Amino acid sequence: MDLKRVQFLKQTQSIKNSVCYWMSRDQRIEDNWALLYAQDIALTYKCKLYVFFNIVKSYLDADSRHYNFMLDGLKEVEKDLKKKNIPFILLTGDPVENIPEIINKNKTSILITDFNPLKISQQWLRDITNKIDINIHQVDAHNIVPCWVTSQKQEYAAYTIRPKINKLLPEFLTSIPELDNHYCNEEADFVVNKWDEIINFLEISKKDKIKWLKSGSKEAKKTLNQFIEHKLENYDELRNNPNFDGASNLSPYLHFGQISAQRVALEVSQSEHSSKEAFLEQLIVRRELADNFCYYNTNYDNFEGLPAWAKDSLIKHKEDFRQYIYTLKEFEAAKTHDGLWNAAQLEMVRKNKMHGYLRMYWAKKILEWSPSPELALEWANYLNNKYELDGRDPNGYVGVAWSIGAVHDRAWADRPVTGKVRYMSHDRMKLKFNISQYIDYVDKLKDE
Ligand SMILES: Cc1cc2nc3c(=O)[nH]c(=O)nc-3n(C[C@H](O)[C@H](O)[C@H](O)COP(=O)(O)OP(=O)(O)OC[C@H]3O[C@@H](n4cnc5c(N)ncnc54)[C@H](O)[C@@H]3O)c2cc1C
Repeated sequence: MDLKRVQFLKQTQSIKNSVCYWMSRDQRIEDNWALLYAQDIALTYKCKLYVFFNIVKSYLDADSRHYNFMLDGLKEVEKDLKKKNIPFILLTGDPVENIPEIINKNKTSILITDFNPLKISQQWLRDITNKIDINIHQVDAHNIVPCWVTSQKQEYAAYTIRPKINKLLPEFLTSIPELDNHYCNEEADFVVNKWDEIINFLEISKKDKIKWLKSGSKEAKKTLNQFIEHKLENYDELRNNPNFDGASNLSPYLHFGQISAQRVALEVSQSEHSSKEAFLEQLIVRRELADNFCYYNTNYDNFEGLPAWAKDSLIKHKEDFRQYIYTLKEFEAAKTHDGLWNAAQLEMVRKNKMHGYLRMYWAKKILEWSPSPELALEWANYLNNKYELDGRDPNGYVGVAWSIGAVHDRAWADRPVTGKVRYMSHDRMKLKFNISQYIDYVDKLKDE
């Protein structure tokens, strides 16, 4: 494996006992560079290898549906790891307490974890690194080009990161080896995870599940294959029409790490479809730009993180007259004057995935109809995290910050309320697609 994928956070003792992979963002066993790296070290030193996953009770407004989707995926991870002779241990509660405890118990020499640029994950890792004195390595198993290799600073926009990524793709978009059977685990402890106890701990309903999309790496691969076979050819033409299911629907799988973006990119690159470049631009450039923003800008989720010119412009227009002002409760209940906006909000609430094209319109109208731009940003992130299956993700924070605060965008003609931030009108939506057809479709979702 290319060692540029690894950040060596702490180097202490030699490796004698067990190796532990703390799985977090990349919840799969196939095509997982962090797990492959952990096994490589364990086999080199003939050590035991354990995989842990720590579940916290509340995570950035996630609810039953998100947790159930994640748990179903983790059950598959447990089964597949067992086939490779690797124990999978679920922990519940504070990772800063749990990880050091289990590391002591297993006499671990090295902790390996995957990479997540969000503040909460970075903070956990910092706290754990300060608490334990063993080797700690972090592997970027989520991005194709490791986030810290692509760029060492916050990138200005897609056009500045694209050439950097493209230059590095020949080095990183390589084939991925398979995980071996872990023959050094004869003496390892195979715990039996009590899934029902975890449901009780989380205080969620087991039945509250998303019906239209099944969880897990096998389902993710099926979704990818169907996309390539039936949708990729017309992706560029249809993906922005909310009346067609023209996009891949891979975002929940990518978010929970049930499929690797590198695997998706490899499969799509091998196809002959004309839209493949348009798709790879979203999957690679836009997605990895979002990780870059969150990694280098700790204010990715609030007004302070926006470009200076956009903040100045929005502040200048803060006191402008607003034709409509709604509360968070009204937005959440889809009680605005705009049938299209309400339908988009309801699609997100009912299906847990709003159509990609409407996400921009949805967030931009929250800016227009909120008491202030600061609140607009806070509310849009809250709703996005609470309802989107793919929410709580760098893509979500950047999508909201792009729509409301022009992150990665340029200045447009100055207007009331929205200032120089790109404006989207209802009339333009009318020209793009049949709005009543979309509203009818969302209406029917309430019966599903
Ligand atoms: C206000 C707003 C909120 C958003 N919230 C999220 C979110 O919470 N989670 C999320 O994953 N995406 C988010 N996006 C980006 C984008 O809308 C979704 O990634 C896309 O709709 C997911 O559906 P898909 O997988 O079928 O997309 P496809 O068009 O099939 O794209 C394939 C993959 O490319 C990536 N991608 C596509 N568009 C973007 C983009 N604009 N930025 C970054 N990566 C992209 C995603 O990983 C996606 O799964 C948001 C965009 C906006 C404007």
